[in-house]
Amino acid sequence: MSTLANTHNAMNLAQGFPDFKSDQKLIDAVSNAMNSGYNQYAPMQGHLGLRHAISKKYELLYNSSYNPENEITVTAGATQAIFTIISAFIKPNDEVIIFKPAYDCYQPAIELNGGKSIAIQLKAPNYTIDWNTVAKSINSNTKMIIVNTPHNPSGTVMSKADMLKLQELTNETDIVVLSDEVYEHIIFDGEQHQSVCRFKNLKERSFITASFGKTFHNTGWKIGYCCAPKTLMDVFRSLHQFNVFSVHHPSQKGLSDYMKEPNHYLNLPEFYQEKRNLFLELIKDSRFKFTPSIGTYFQVLDYSDITLEHDVDFAKRLTIEHGIASIPLSVFNDNNLDEHVLRFCFAKTNDTLKKAAELLNSI
Ligand code: PMP
Ligand code: GLN
Repeated sequence: MSTLANTHNAMNLAQGFPDFKSDQKLIDAVSNAMNSGYNQYAPMQGHLGLRHAISKKYELLYNSSYNPENEITVTAGATQAIFTIISAFIKPNDEVIIFKPAYDCYQPAIELNGGKSIAIQLKAPNYTIDWNTVAKSINSNTKMIIVNTPHNPSGTVMSKADMLKLQELTNETDIVVLSDEVYEHIIFDGEQHQSVCRFKNLKERSFITASFGKTFHNTGWKIGYCCAPKTLMDVFRSLHQFNVFSVHHPSQKGLSDYMKEPNHYLNLPEFYQEKRNLFLELIKDSRFKFTPSIGTYFQVLDYSDITLEHDVDFAKRLTIEHGIASIPLSVFNDNNLDEHVLRFCFAKTNDTLKKAAELLNSI
């Protein structure tokens, strides 16, 4: 969709990335790191100062402790963490439960490692998990369950009750949980992020994946990390060591200095809630229907009052004829289920959001 948007000079609310700059203080911190010599390999586990800063964040936000020495590893974005976790744990014929619509990198990684993805469909507009279906899908081949909250693409979040159910179903099994929490700081309306690390028994079997790209507005830097109890992290590192080995050192040093000020991530819910509110206020009289996003920087819009054409066709037509690109939800769904829903990214300047709303109101 980004290529199509560029070809037709359309506004790109498709791919998830901010159209504004990262904080100058962070950019300065990274260039200072380069100027003061952080230009050779970082340790395989990640820059120690950054691992300490991450560990402090989990204590501050979730009262949860991860040892910087052996329970946190810095990765080349969350994508690499996810790929490495799946490769480290999934063998041929292992089953992995995923929820569709799902972010696109889970299923290929499972299948490339010979695993089988068992997709459970979540339905618009609430995208809630039916835990009875999950219970029925678990068997002796189930090796992993992947959850994602706040959820890309739907903008929904998992509740405490969801997490307790996940904990109950995995208790006393060998199932590893991969909890993709890259949007943990982008959550609205006073909702609390339900990290797996808040739940003692769940934490013991879980990896958390995270991404600085989402938190500090620099998706192009591709720095993320994962956390897990030592026994799981040892397995992760045994693969990470020979695959990626270590990631961009000056960014890690810069991020570790920047994270000394917790407001840099604590301010994020308010920052993005204003953008969500502005976008929704501007399109409230359009022919698109919506339930407000509760987390992530995505809003899904139902266009069934406008047309019943397939979402891929409509998304292409919106880009080519109306100059605004989005992502059709069917591409994240099992069997390309089409519910006439498109995903729009609101990580944009207020000017961009106003122009986008004008286009959407004219459809
Ligand atoms: N998981 C989800 C749910 C995402 O939306 C993204 C970013 N698109 C990632 C993982 C990957 O993050 P990164 O860019 O840090 O690899
Ligand atoms: N996570 C971003 C999205 O969902 C972009 C990543 C990608 O393009 N693969 O739009």
